[in-house]
Amino acid sequence: MLDAVDLEGWFADHGRDLPWRRTRDPWSILVSEIMLQQTQVSRVIDRWHRFLDRFPTPAVTAGAPVAAVIDEWSGLGYNRRAVNLHRCAVAVTERFGGTMPATLDELLSLPGVGAYTARAVAVFAFEQDEAVVDTNVARILARTAGRTMTRAEVQRLADECVVGRDPWAWNQAMLDVGAAYCRPDPDCGPCPFSPVCRWHLAGGHDPDPADGSAGVSGRQSRFEGSDRQGRGRLVRALRHGPVADEDLAAVMGWADDTSRAERVAATLVADGLTVHVNGRYLLPS
Ligand code: SF4
Repeated sequence: MLDAVDLEGWFADHGRDLPWRRTRDPWSILVSEIMLQQTQVSRVIDRWHRFLDRFPTPAVTAGAPVAAVIDEWSGLGYNRRAVNLHRCAVAVTERFGGTMPATLDELLSLPGVGAYTARAVAVFAFEQDEAVVDTNVARILARTAGRTMTRAEVQRLADECVVGRDPWAWNQAMLDVGAAYCRPDPDCGPCPFSPVCRWHLAGGHDPDPADGSAGVSGRQSRFEGSDRQGRGRLVRALRHGPVADEDLAAVMGWADDTSRAERVAATLVADGLTVHVNGRYLLPS
């Protein structure tokens, strides 16, 4: 059904011109994918250039202290991604001689590289016949098929789509269609799948087949007042120096809830983002 659509042709006319689409360097693409996991495209562009100026290769990244990578990540949020990127660089350097591996299994073996990211590097750097499924792509697949799907069905359907196609252009186009049109509140008029989309052709009535379909995330929980906000505050403070135990709760914004501050700070320590030594929290060296 989807293969009846000339998506590569649509992409040639409408695809977004993004800087990481002009390279096939796997490290640059990995960095873009990790940044894009939880940060908007418009915010990632400048930061991607800046990060790669400072950390152009896995070897350079691995040779830097993890605190330097966390520092460079400042403002992007979800700082654990910086730690994972550093771990990944170390693994590439130690196990693959500094050259990014190309096979899906090898990519999946890298720390912090999950199924989506491994496939993204395989297809966007090495142009392999893989299909990436982010939340928007999963939404397209469910709606065009007109039914909710299991995780295995979603990936199988996505994989079938790339057979005999240009996998690089197909996947980039799917991401663009998902980001531009197949949002939770869809804009079906200009969508290239509108002539074949079962849900749209049936009137787009409730229930939406994307609701509850595998890979389609629900709405993000509130940031204000969340543990994530406290984590971000502590990492931001640590960039300027250590934080003593007695200052922890105030720094995290919970001056009257020391136990919450300690519990959440412990998650940062467990994630490798912070170390706790001699009554002080500090960035790892
Ligand atoms: S036609 Fe509408 S519901 Fe179907 S894939 Fe396009 S945007 Fe999504």
